[in-house]
Amino acid sequence: MDKAQDQKYCDICGEDFTGVFYGKGSKYKILQCPNCDLLWSDPLTTKDFQDTIDSDYWAEDVYLKEESSQKDRFRKQIDKILRLDKNFKDKKILDIGSGLGFFLDVCEEYDLTAEGCDINQNAVKYCNKDKVRSRVGVIDSYYEDNSFDVIFAFNLIEHLPHPKEFLLNCKRILKSEGLLIIETPTQNSLFHKFARFGDKITGYKLNYYGVNTNGHIYKFTDKTFKTLKNFGFEIILNEKINSPIKEILGKTAYLSSFNRIIMRISIPILWFLASLFGLQNRAFVIFKIKKNVQ
Ligand SMILES: [Zn+2]
Repeated sequence: MDKAQDQKYCDICGEDFTGVFYGKGSKYKILQCPNCDLLWSDPLTTKDFQDTIDSDYWAEDVYLKEESSQKDRFRKQIDKILRLDKNFKDKKILDIGSGLGFFLDVCEEYDLTAEGCDINQNAVKYCNKDKVRSRVGVIDSYYEDNSFDVIFAFNLIEHLPHPKEFLLNCKRILKSEGLLIIETPTQNSLFHKFARFGDKITGYKLNYYGVNTNGHIYKFTDKTFKTLKNFGFEIILNEKINSPIKEILGKTAYLSSFNRIIMRISIPILWFLASLFGLQNRAFVIFKIKKNVQ
């Protein structure tokens, strides 16, 4: 993989785009596809980020602190899926980016058949401490065509340099009518509507797109999800959910003092209003795979 990657086209729909949406003069730019509204950072990643991925670094403490809230989140999601699909109990599930195994733990509680994979060997070791259920690796030729009923990817797709490649691999290993379940931050939220307004009144000083070269490389929108229908991904659920408020406020520590003050005042108000109007900052999406669509 290149250590730094410029990208002047939309990874999802292939649209060429060189116009800058935000970040003129800053270390990186944010581009937005005029066709499907996907946002991405340009360059996609930097050398520092790649070096971190290649190293043994992993934020065990950070993840362990979130264990109980994440498991609660997964239980609610599984309850929802079970209401939508009565046969879900018999399905074979692959959890991509299985981390410390929280989703796999919850699957065991529900007596569901699931296995995982993750690029971080320390995370896999932790996940497999009682029994082997995850492997070090990504979604690639290790997995046979049509071999799973369900793929679950929590907080993953926004970090991948080439999400379309990932989506097509999911389609390949899923059975026809199989389910791809993702959770990812979205741009269609009240936070981002506020941020756009903030751009204008602060003369573009506010940077709260949640897109950057060392983390969330991409931000998906409802329009991007709809575009995926052209590749055989039919949306059967697209629900908005809020990040836990503590988690969002914690992230303001990394902002400049100007942005931090604005965010700490506005986030609690926006968080509440977003829940009220269905404009939360994350999308929980279930796609059904149509193998006959190219
Ligand atoms: Zn596009």
